[in-house]
Amino acid sequence: MSELALFSDEVRTFLDESLTPELQKAGKLEAGIYAEKPVAEEWLKILDGRGWAVPGWPEEWGGAGWSAEQHAIWQRELTLAAAPSVPPNGIKMVAPAIMYYATQEQKEYYLPRIRKGEDWWAQGYSEPGAGSDLSSLKCAAVRDGDDYVINGTKIWTTHAHYCNRIFCLVRTDSSGRQQQGITFLLFDLDLPGIEIQPIISISGDHEFNQVFFTDVRVPVTGRLGEENDGWSVAKYLLTHERGGKTATAMMTKLEHLKEFLDDEARSTGIDLRNDESYRRNLAALNIELETYVAFENRVFDSVAAGESIGTVSSILKIRRTELRQRIDELVMDAVHHYGLPYQPEIREFRNNTSPVGSFTAATAAPRYLNNRAATIYAGSNEIQRNILAKQSLGL
Ligand SMILES: Cc1cc2nc3c(=O)[nH]c(=O)nc-3n(C[C@H](O)[C@H](O)[C@H](O)COP(=O)(O)OP(=O)(O)OC[C@H]3O[C@@H](n4cnc5c(N)ncnc54)[C@H](O)[C@@H]3O)c2cc1C
Repeated sequence: MSELALFSDEVRTFLDESLTPELQKAGKLEAGIYAEKPVAEEWLKILDGRGWAVPGWPEEWGGAGWSAEQHAIWQRELTLAAAPSVPPNGIKMVAPAIMYYATQEQKEYYLPRIRKGEDWWAQGYSEPGAGSDLSSLKCAAVRDGDDYVINGTKIWTTHAHYCNRIFCLVRTDSSGRQQQGITFLLFDLDLPGIEIQPIISISGDHEFNQVFFTDVRVPVTGRLGEENDGWSVAKYLLTHERGGKTATAMMTKLEHLKEFLDDEARSTGIDLRNDESYRRNLAALNIELETYVAFENRVFDSVAAGESIGTVSSILKIRRTELRQRIDELVMDAVHHYGLPYQPEIREFRNNTSPVGSFTAATAAPRYLNNRAATIYAGSNEIQRNILAKQSLGL
């Protein structure tokens, strides 16, 4: 048996033994941007116990030292096993920025806490009026002795109500270009003067928040990088937010849809694939997804060979988010009126209530509604098209 085949076996055995039925069910019923904290916390602890909580990190901080092929196998097996998705804010976003920009003291403090799930991080970038044009942000920080005093607000702050820390872009100087005068701060979310207000999304879920800061005193020791150079840190972090393979996860979702259609045909005698329009849409999506798989593999192979990804990341973002939304649309068509009942309790961790209709139907509408956001976050698709028009086509 080859080394990679042995590694696949090792991963599958670990997942069989460690991914509890409750965690697997939570993974299958996930309809939001990523797993809720109670689920993610429990799963991360198990991963950390095996030494696989942060496989992509450098080994000195707990990384697994795997090859690119091993990482691909790991991602694939996690998807196939329906493991919950651990929020990326700590492990995949702020941690790489800490590794690159932080002092040794900051690294030693924050990185083990992220790995063990002791700290949960919110991302404080967007503001009302500063989203796509992020560098126009206004949330102000004024230096006063050993503190910055912060006044302003951040919005769309995913899972802030679960988090104990935030990485936040603040304005420390307004005199130059808007990209200058931004500073990157790390601080606690329970400091006096911080108020977190929920924003309920179209699916009825509480994922977002608006965070208000009134005279919040943040120690200068929480600064990452130099004062007024936070834009460099922010951009570095965003390159990590936008990366990663997603084709296997989408293919798995399409396979689940086909299994659902089979079950429906068996139990009701109605086979949607006999419907000409549905069949055509399913076949077209299948072909486009297979093309995407090949494209993504080619891109990641060239990255592994040391090539820079450049504007191709914009093509990947546009394609994967649009394809994801089309899968959701076909699932909505398949579950039909069973997608209508509002039954959020079905998706609660360790809830054993049976859904009206199937589990597929119970997650179809929230998934469809929440995934409308995929073409907006991490740089909207219109902005990605602007990048392509400018940098690839020279328009
Ligand atoms: C699910 C989700 C989770 C999020 N989580 C977080 C988080 O945790 N922390 C955080 O800080 N932010 C978060 N965001 C915010 C996200 O980063 C912003 O929504 C995004 O940057 C877009 O900004 P905006 O919402 O202000 O829209 P705007 O920038 O106002 O854009 C509105 C519309 O105009 C289009 N548009 C804007 N400028 C141009 C242009 N120049 N050319 C063509 N079209 C344009 C956009 O594409 C969009 O369709 C999240 C968003 C979503 C949807």
